[in-house]
Amino acid sequence: MITIHEAIDAVLAEVRPLPAEEVPLLEALGRAAGEAIVSPERVPAFDNSAMDGYAVRGAELTAGRREFRVEVEIPAGRWVDVRIGEGGAAKIMTGAPLPPGVDTVVPVELTSQAGDTLTINEPVEPGENVRRAAEDLAEGDVLFPRGALLGPAEIGLLASVGFERVAVARRPRVAILATGSELVAAGAPLAPGQIRNSNSFTTYGQVLAAGAEPVLLGIARDDLDETRRLIAAALAHDVVLSTGGVSVGEYDFVKQVQEELGVERRFWGVAAKPGKPLAFGVREGALVFGVPGNPVAAMVCFELYIRPALLAMQGRPDLYRPSVFAAAEEPVRLTKERAEVRRCRLVHRGRGWGFTTTGPQGSGILRSMALADGLAVVPAGHPAGEPGEEHLVALLAGGAAERPPYPGAGSSGQD
Ligand code: AMP
Ligand code: MG
Repeated sequence: MITIHEAIDAVLAEVRPLPAEEVPLLEALGRAAGEAIVSPERVPAFDNSAMDGYAVRGAELTAGRREFRVEVEIPAGRWVDVRIGEGGAAKIMTGAPLPPGVDTVVPVELTSQAGDTLTINEPVEPGENVRRAAEDLAEGDVLFPRGALLGPAEIGLLASVGFERVAVARRPRVAILATGSELVAAGAPLAPGQIRNSNSFTTYGQVLAAGAEPVLLGIARDDLDETRRLIAAALAHDVVLSTGGVSVGEYDFVKQVQEELGVERRFWGVAAKPGKPLAFGVREGALVFGVPGNPVAAMVCFELYIRPALLAMQGRPDLYRPSVFAAAEEPVRLTKERAEVRRCRLVHRGRGWGFTTTGPQGSGILRSMALADGLAVVPAGHPAGEPGEEHLVALLAGGAAERPPYPGAGSSGQD
């Protein structure tokens, strides 16, 4: 058996980044930049007003002038080429271009206007309330390095500099197949001794959430030929993810079939609970994972090894979940020769975190995963511990029911 760290390293050592492809900007959401992205435009494109107010010469304010003549009114979107002369002002709206001659905007709240005469009640510093051309971005500035995740802010930024399409890393194509003669497809009735196939659903979701493209190949019964047929078809993809049939049972054919089909084994067996009989190998650039069939084991193997690999294939630098140290809210059970990945829920405790496990932790109890927003990893050979003992918890996607105590944000009396 190898350790979790060794397994992660062995998998990542086989990852080859996928090529880039161009997609319409909205389709780039959730994908990784396929190359370093350089701004073709500057932002702002022109000097403009940051406030509704009056544009004047700052030097005249400094010299003590408080009365100006309003010469023109400039709404956002209108380009005015009239030069503002000495003693002149332009009434200007937020985002409107500054006309030539002026360099400072006095907010409307600090002024009064009667007819064409503007009175400044409170002067501002020269240059204030003006957004200068290119102060945010110059032409040629790098917006993102290759591999950056393109979220809402990123595609907004790309839109702001004129991108309609953008280069993103191709999505890894992941063939998903379930093995087990006991498995029944969704919708079909259960005969005695049969169970429903849930792994194809959990792994489909995990693959999609990792920015990859799941391809469902169905169920192979525990039969050598059928397993061979499906795994052979799966090998045409970037990644093969089979569940079940990889342990030491009489009908566990996955490893044998992988070998027959030319998969070079990198490891089988990780000192992790759940997720011990994980088989990993490669064939012609394809990563081939045989994860154990127990539903939690399959999901945990995905989290620990497959998700980082899928992100790395997209060039993403952020391969791992963020993690925190959290204090156990209950006694911590000892571990034996394997590290244990316990499904847990995090709770705010003052400025830190506490965690509770999500009920019985058997590797077939999918509910323990559904209830979890974190995975606590307790090292191998860890003695029993008291409540308060701190463990590393990797954060899965989640949300809090309690409003965060945003500092100062509740002090208006209106809450
Ligand atoms: P295996 O790894 O094939 O020995 O399977 C271990 C356990 O996981 C057995 O109880 C299987 O019935 C169960 N199992 C295997 N595949 C699936 C699946 N696709 N969905 C739900 N349970 C499964
Ligand atoms: Mg099986």
